[in-house]
Amino acid sequence: METRTLNYGVAMPALGFGVFQTPPDETRNAVGAALDSGYRLIDTAAAYGNERQVGEAVQASGIGRSQVFLETKIWISDYGYDQTLHTFEKSARKLGVDQIDLLLLHQALPSAFDRTLEAYRALETLLADGKVRAIGVSNFMVEHLTMLLDRCKVVPAVNQIEVHPYFAQREVQEFAGARGILTQAWSPIGRITFYRDGSNGSTLDDPVIGAIAQAHGKSPAQVMLRWGLQEGRSVIPKSTKADRIAENIDVFDFELAAEEISAIDRLDTGRRGGPDPSAITLEAFGRDIPEA
Ligand code: NDP
Repeated sequence: METRTLNYGVAMPALGFGVFQTPPDETRNAVGAALDSGYRLIDTAAAYGNERQVGEAVQASGIGRSQVFLETKIWISDYGYDQTLHTFEKSARKLGVDQIDLLLLHQALPSAFDRTLEAYRALETLLADGKVRAIGVSNFMVEHLTMLLDRCKVVPAVNQIEVHPYFAQREVQEFAGARGILTQAWSPIGRITFYRDGSNGSTLDDPVIGAIAQAHGKSPAQVMLRWGLQEGRSVIPKSTKADRIAENIDVFDFELAAEEISAIDRLDTGRRGGPDPSAITLEAFGRDIPEA
């Protein structure tokens, strides 16, 4: 498996497995199938409600703890220095581990950015104490990264954002890249479950992606993942189906040509599928994250 070296030297598998909206009772099987297929990075979040099942699947797999890179995210309701330190304990206990490989702030809280900064300061403490191996953020736009970088001691290792052929967020990617922050793409095959009206269309049915897939004897999903990897990102596709789980990691035996990459780049519509990161508030999105 190809790896990405994070800004402080930690190696992370380039391709991982996502479990957003995977129901807890399906998570154990899904993660088990992913581990069987060779995935060694699992991305979950306190807000997904399935950290416990992710941990159970890793333990049941018999694969050594050091061989699996576990990534989770702190929800906005748990921001604040002391609260965030405590939230690490909640997530670590649910995952059944002493150390988390990569811990992210799930969202910026633009209307209460001091709280976001306090939460990040807690991540820095957890890093210094060896409770986490790397720290980062998610859904941070350039203005949020700028405010954070002004005040933090440790540059985030990762910014996990929506990136797929229809929404590439080049400005955020370039800003982060110039500062050593790795972009990790969520919804890397564009199946954003936030699209409620389908008006953005489906990347899986896109004719340009379809033609490239056909030329390589691969599926559209595999082409999109390959595009993300060749552009240097980390990608974390999600599936609950064993055949798709295996398909999505079978992307290391072909190479897209430069003109194929450019053709996919040109599909960017500039239209976001997920929630606007600038509009995240505790009032609208806050929710209780249960104790372990
Ligand atoms: P993806 O782009 O990974 O698409 C997942 C969807 O596509 C599911 O509906 C899945 O269905 C389907 N699918 C998976 N593989 C294939 C395939 N090969 N062919 C056809 N359909 C396929 O989107 P996600 O939104 O799930 O994002 C991936 C991960 O990113 C999440 O699971 C989560 O870990 C993370 N994420 C983070 C966010 C954040 O705010 N930080 C927000 C959203 C996601 P099925 O399961 O039925 O196979």
